[in-house]
Amino acid sequence: MENIIIIGTGCAGFTAGIYAARANLNPLILEGKQPGGQLTTTSEVENFPGFPDGIDGFILMDSLRKQALKFGARIQNSFVDSVILGEDKKVLKAGDKVIEAKAVIIATGAAPRLLGIPGEQEMYGGKGVTTCATCDGAFYRDMEVVVVGGGDSACEEALFLTRFCSSVTVLHRRNQFRASKIMADRVLDHPKIKVIWDTKPDKIIPDEEGKVKSVQVSNIKNGETSEVFCKGVFIAIGHVPNTKCFENELELDENGYLIPKTGSSVLTNIPGVYVAGDCADHIYRQAITAAGMGCQAAIEAERWLAERN
Ligand code: NAP
Repeated sequence: MENIIIIGTGCAGFTAGIYAARANLNPLILEGKQPGGQLTTTSEVENFPGFPDGIDGFILMDSLRKQALKFGARIQNSFVDSVILGEDKKVLKAGDKVIEAKAVIIATGAAPRLLGIPGEQEMYGGKGVTTCATCDGAFYRDMEVVVVGGGDSACEEALFLTRFCSSVTVLHRRNQFRASKIMADRVLDHPKIKVIWDTKPDKIIPDEEGKVKSVQVSNIKNGETSEVFCKGVFIAIGHVPNTKCFENELELDENGYLIPKTGSSVLTNIPGVYVAGDCADHIYRQAITAAGMGCQAAIEAERWLAERN
């Protein structure tokens, strides 16, 4: 039986791996369908402490991976389909593989919900379509951008973008925000933000370099179409945590996020099972906070294993 298995190779998973390996726990890290996690889709990370000139997301994740390997973590490509999480034994099934462990850190991340419209995939990451204003907003200084969505995330992204962009157009499919009133009011009162109600994006149109030129939109009520010119499209229509295979064993909130035990950010109600990063955090969702949770989870696991041995 393994000492500890870490599911996920984003910032949370690799940081947990580094700490667990340095604690001589010989961790096994399972890599799923997106090795390196969400940051591998970001061109440049400017807000991870320690890199004053920024760092390419892929390079950052590759460095974390090497650091985990250097201390003895093992990495295996296995997508976990189902789990049975008991206090004494955690059983993970990945295809026809069955792996058992004393402790498990769940760091499976979340995926931004996407629109599924033409142009979105082609221009995603570096060509104008993005899902993270905190990561990419500064690249759109003095430019016009569009934010899609009507929840707190969309409002937060729109407000954040006003710091850099010349104008921010919010496209929302209904005629009122889902966001909290305070956020909605801030957006509605902001001189740089224009809201287009009852409108959905149909297509993202590229310029001659393959970068975003405009968004073709249509009014949901009268079907009228028009084109909104912009350099960046920020999609903020929610996230989908990668937690499906835990739903029978652990508590999830109504949006599918794992709920840590009251009073902790990484413990769960099952001893020896920990959560870290975006699969359990719908508030901060930053690389550095995920790394912090990975560290906390590994330290908790180390202490719990030490008490049992
Ligand atoms: P959300 O509340 O689920 O809102 C998603 C928004 O995207 C909704 O306005 C929805 O439209 C729209 N949408 C969904 N699918 C769409 C599609 N296919 N095409 C166009 N629009 C689509 O998600 P969120 O804003 O990420 O917030 C998630 C949770 O985190 C919420 O509980 C929120 O309060 C919380 N949060 C809090 C803060 C904060 O307090 N500072 C910041 C961010 C998030 P409809 O309105 O028509 O459904």
